[in-house]
Parts: sequence; C-alpha cells; structure tokens
Amino acid sequence: MGAATVAASRLALGKDGVAAAQAAPGAGTASDVVWNKAPCRFCGTGCHVQVGVRGGRVVAVAGDQSADVNKGLLCVKGYHVGLALYGRDRLTKPLLRRNGKLEPIGWDEAIAIVARRAMQNPAGFALYGSGQWTIPEGYAANKLVKAGLGNNQIDPNARLCMSSAVTGFLSTYGVDEPAGCYEDLDRCDVLLMWGNNPAEMHPVLFSRVVDRRSRGEQVLLIDLTTRRTRTSAFCQHTLYFKPNTDLAIANGIAHLLVERGTFDRAFVDRFCNFRKRTEPPTLEGQPTSFEEYKTELAEYTPERVEAISGVAAKDIRMLADLFGRRDLRITSLWCMGMNQHTRGTAINDLVHGVHLLSGHFGKPGDAPTSLTGQPSACGTVREVGTLAHGLPGGLVVTNAEHRKEAEHLWNLPEGRINPKPGYHTVDLWKRFSTPKEQGGDIDTIWVMVTNPGQSLPNTNELFDASRKIPGKFLIVSDVYPTATVRAADLVLPSAMWVEKNGMFGNSERRTQQWFKMVEPPGEARDDAWQIIAVARKLHDMGFAGMKDKDGRFLFDIRKGGKEVPVWDYKHYHDVNVDEQLFEEYREFSRFKHKDLAPYREYVKARGLRWPVVEQPDGSWRETRFRFARFDDPYATKDEIQFYHSVTKDDRALIWFHPYEPPPESPDAEYPFWLCTGRVLEHWHTGSLTMRIPQLQRAMPQSYLEMSREDARRLGVGDGEVVILESRRGALELPVWIEGRGAPPPGTVFVPFFDETVMVNRATLEAHDPLSKQPDYKKCAVRIRRKPQGKRGEAR
Ligand code: SF4
Repeated sequence: MGAATVAASRLALGKDGVAAAQAAPGAGTASDVVWNKAPCRFCGTGCHVQVGVRGGRVVAVAGDQSADVNKGLLCVKGYHVGLALYGRDRLTKPLLRRNGKLEPIGWDEAIAIVARRAMQNPAGFALYGSGQWTIPEGYAANKLVKAGLGNNQIDPNARLCMSSAVTGFLSTYGVDEPAGCYEDLDRCDVLLMWGNNPAEMHPVLFSRVVDRRSRGEQVLLIDLTTRRTRTSAFCQHTLYFKPNTDLAIANGIAHLLVERGTFDRAFVDRFCNFRKRTEPPTLEGQPTSFEEYKTELAEYTPERVEAISGVAAKDIRMLADLFGRRDLRITSLWCMGMNQHTRGTAINDLVHGVHLLSGHFGKPGDAPTSLTGQPSACGTVREVGTLAHGLPGGLVVTNAEHRKEAEHLWNLPEGRINPKPGYHTVDLWKRFSTPKEQGGDIDTIWVMVTNPGQSLPNTNELFDASRKIPGKFLIVSDVYPTATVRAADLVLPSAMWVEKNGMFGNSERRTQQWFKMVEPPGEARDDAWQIIAVARKLHDMGFAGMKDKDGRFLFDIRKGGKEVPVWDYKHYHDVNVDEQLFEEYREFSRFKHKDLAPYREYVKARGLRWPVVEQPDGSWRETRFRFARFDDPYATKDEIQFYHSVTKDDRALIWFHPYEPPPESPDAEYPFWLCTGRVLEHWHTGSLTMRIPQLQRAMPQSYLEMSREDARRLGVGDGEVVILESRRGALELPVWIEGRGAPPPGTVFVPFFDETVMVNRATLEAHDPLSKQPDYKKCAVRIRRKPQGKRGEAR
C-alpha cells in the first residue's frame, strides 16, 4: 500500500496545524507530552491511536502498537485525526436564528428552547442522530425518546449506510451483527469484495491482506465492482458488473453449487433451513424446500447471469468453483455497495446464503463480513438500538416482552414504552419537509453529530423544502458550521472526540473506551450533557415522562448514594457520566447474548468484542467467532449453533430472492448511471477532514469520474466543468477522466464529501422495503457541457 494510504510513524501537530514527523515515545519524545489511548474518530475499522497532549492541546498522534485492530498502523485520515479539533471555525456558542441571522445566546436559553419545542408538541419532536454518537450519548438519546418522550421518533444516519446489513443478519441468523472478526482477513485464502473499495474506505484492514501477500502468502483477491477503484489495482481478478445486478451473480454462484452438487450438504443438513420471500416482504419470509430452492435457482445459468450482469459466464463458474472447494477459506467483504440498494436486504441474504450453502462459515477465514462506515454504527446504532423501532441490546418496541424488559430496567410504569415504531429516516425528513396540513406531522428535529443537509438523498425535497415551511424548527448540535448548521434555527456547539469521555463500537463487535484529554473550545459542551439538560428542563416543566415510576428523574446519576445534578454543567464532571450510563446500558446486553463487561475492563483494554463473559477466575473473555463452539461460550450444542435462529431450531436461513431491475435506469433522456461514494482522504461529508489542511490539499474538491470513451463522445476535456442533472436536481463539477477510479462507459461517479458540490441533490430516495435504506449507488443522470462561463449556473 502507498505511503499516503497507511503509515506507522507518528505525527506531531504544530500550533499552526502543520504536521511534522516525530520520534516514538521513549525515543526522545518531549517529556511533557502525556499520551493516552483513543479509537480513531473516523471510520468503522476502529483503529486505536495514541494521543499526545501538551499544554491542553493535542500535539501528536501515533498508531497504537498494542492494538489488535491496527497494530500501530493508521491511514492518512487517522494520521491527521488530531487536527480535526482545530479547524478555525469551531462552533463555540449556542446560536439562535433571529430575523434570518444566527445570533449568540446563552446555554440556559438554548436548553429551554429545545425543551419548549418538545413540550408544546411531543409527538412532533424527533431526534436524528448518528453512528458518530458515542455509546453513552446514543443510550441517553434513546432513553430520552423511548422512556421519556414516548414517541419513538429517533433515527440515525446509519439508516443511510448499514441498515440493510442489519436486516440481512436478522433475516439470516435471527440476530444482528457479524459472526466473524478481522482475524478472518489474516486467515482467508480468498477475499471476495462485493461492491466494496476497502483500499480507500477501510485501508488499514485492507493492508492486513495485502501485507500477507507481500510476505509471500497466497491470497486470492477478487473485486466484484461497477468501476475500477484502487482496490482493483491489488486484485488478481476484477469483475465488472452492471449496477444492481449483484443478486443475479449471487444466484448464479448458488445455482452452480446446487447443480453440480458441490455445496456442503452436511453443513446445510445440520445447520440450515430454506426461505423465500412473501409479499409484502418480511424478515421471516416463508418456508421453502431445498427442491423448490433448486428450481428457483435453475434459471440463473452462467450465460443468463452474464446477460444480466455483464460478468462473463466463465467468471461465474470460477466463483462457484472457489466456493465449491472445501480446502479454501473464503471471506466476503461488503459495505455501502450492497447496503445502499433498493434490494439491500435481499443481496445481504444471498451473500450469507452462498457462504452457508458452501459451508464457508464458522472457521477463521471463512466468513461473510459486513463493514461499517462510521466509528460507532455498530456500537451506538445497532447495539444501543437508536433506530426508530429499536431498544438497547437488540430489543424492539413492537415486541411486548421486550418492552416489558426495558420498562423493568428503566423502572418505568407498565405501558410507558410506545409499541409503535417512529419514522425511518426518509419518512422522518419527508414529514419534516411537508406542511402540517398535508401530513407533515414532524415539526421539530434535533440533529446531533451528523449533516443531513448534505447527506440525505434527494436533498432538495427531503431537506431544503422544510426551510421554507412556517412552524418547522431545526436544532443542530455540531462542531463546525456544516450545511445543516447553516440551515438551522438553533445551533448547539458540541465537544468532540477527546474533548469528552467516550466509547465506540467498531465493525467487529469491539467496544472501545477513552477518556477526555483536552477541554472543548469556548462554550462547546458534551452531547450527553445536552440530552440530560433538556430532559431535566422537561422534568422541571412537569413533563411526566421524565420521571420513573418512583418519581425519580430518568437520568438519576448518583455518587456515594447521593444524586449528582449533572444537568447543571458545573457538576457534569463531578462523576463519570459515561460510566454510569454504560453500566445501566450493559444490563440490556444479556438478552441477545451481546454481553458487555464492566466499564473498568474497557479502560484497560484496546477494546473487547462481545459477548464478553466473566470467567471463573474473575477475568473477562471476549469472543472472536460467534456461533462457533470453539470460541463462542453460547454455542454449546454443536460445532456451529445459531442460537437466535428465526426458526427456533438453531439453524440459519438460506434465502432465495430473484433478481429485479432497479427503480430507475438510464434511458434516452438521462443516459448515464450515477454512482456516489467516498474517497480515501475524506470522511463522510468532509465536515472534519476538509478542515484538516493536509487532507484538504490532498483532495480539495469533488469531481466527476468519467470514462475516456464517454468524454470523447461528449467532447469533454479533462478538468472541464460539466452540468450533471437528474430528475431531482442539478450540479456542476469538473470531469476527471480515468482519475482515481475509472467507471466503464455509461457510468459516472461523484464523491459526496464536498459541500460546494451537493451531489445528493441528484440522488434518489427510493429505498429497500425492509431496511428502509436508500439507494445512493445508482440513479439516472445526464451530463452536458457547460456553456462558456463560470461554475454556479446549476445551483
Ligand atoms: S479512518 Fe479508519 S482506517 Fe483510517 S485510521 Fe481511522 S479507523 Fe483506521
């Protein structure tokens, strides 16, 4: 991997934000620098960094050599993560919009305004959160909404990035989260990437595999992709498929395994049942037989799959040959490519199914593994249950038993938790962007740690529209003036990363902890404090939901048996609020065998993967390979035990789902596919990384990747500004011919990190029927040359 991608050395950050190489600690490091551990603030890999602080400021960052995840490596983003704190335009005061202008106000007034909005119409008040919330913050937000406000109106931006992975795990194993772990990457013989570009999006993980090859190990890398990426450059096989046709490819592999008899009959007979979908689709589907499954697959011959997908029949046979071999260990990787898909649940099911059918499951290196984009999408969203239907620990509001358990743990009166799920993200923002009299029953959204003004699909309709409707009120807690902040009615400045205590949960079930190391700037305050302060204000205003059944405040935090008034910021740090919230939350984790250790164990460790179970000697043991008896303490009956089986017989489900065309395809009017995504240097909407000078300079603006053939046909030159239009919106951006990535003719790619080029004006909000995750990977657009002039015409 290139030096720009991963680096193992240290980086010292000068006062002016200029980075310079620095020696390792103990080897001449300035003695007044204090080092402490934290997970990286950016992606779901969850690399650990050592953070060096001097004079109240983060001055250096190093890869943590004692961390299993990254073994001292960092990517170019992690290497510069300390600078994310020091952009020149940090938000430092609460701001209220008056006469169209954001003006400073005090915290007391700001908290009172939030509470009044909730008080005046609790049913229309929603929280929109994030996989960047820490675990305690997400837990507090979930409790505020589900135990307090009682409307279940909370959903996270992770709905946009991995909810199809959640529904895929639930429909296959009856419980969410991956079975394997990153060690699969050290043990696999074949790594198959399904629409995934880990060389840019999860570079430290990808380097684990690439390094094995450089040490002389044989690892076959296969890239199933819709465009050539940096990942393709490392792969022995790059198989290009037409957007949306991955279902046909998975069915083609399964068909050959069944037809040739090369599937693992013993594994299937012992550990699997078959399912097909119902109309409307459900997570349980309906039973089907192996014979019926075989019949359904019969039409997915290699030649038909080639006709649908564009992947050559011989390559479909090659993939089926690999899965048919028992002597190989095969790991599949995926992320947004499979999840941001109107058939996202279905393709997740099918990839799990190929692994189950072929017995490539439950051994190190044999695993279907989904990755997450955000640092705590797994920890805060999936485990804490900050989705509109979720409760902590994998419980759901629609299940009476689950509600009862949650009411018991929260000491709530019976019936307090509302059985009706809140609105999923697209629905929530649609209702916020619709006048009340036309069904827009959400009138206030409190956004925390995310930037929907840039990241929602079809932003013209789902976000911008609300700003013109009287009575709608947008509250945003954030650290920089993002597109969302600039549209807000009330802005709350937040502390970030090592300016507060925190915990994240990464893609391999690893819970990680860190302590506050520096003060936040100005009046910026922790998100958990903001949530508790609003809850307390509501309590004081007489909102009944803010008390438990004994009349105690919902966030009753005690020290030495005495309540600490943590809602008063002067007292917020009198006690470790994170520890108290986490200890309360971890009571939920036993229901679905997602057991967590006490907080103090995470203080010592570089993260622990759940289930974490106490041993007879009092130590706590993490689990690497779930459902496998050799490692998982809950798998006791057989070599593999799917103990949350949908069919209640310890078996997983192999599904059949047919290929179906996408909701929108190129036509004569809009002849190109548009695919959107990320780049190595920038994370998410770029609100942090675009403020890091080194990253901003390395990738200063968005672009449109186009094939040389299309450019020639349109008469467009490299760097020329063009207008991209969909049926929903238009934008201008420069063309990059065969640049970072290379799409095939007929497809263009645009990253979404650049707020000056809002590509989500063009994307589609069509979503998967079960996961409700929108499809950002394909919609129809046209490209036209911009008449002579400057950028700006299409805004
Ligand atoms: S951005 Fe991701 S891969 Fe890079 S250092 Fe951070 S956690 Fe690791």
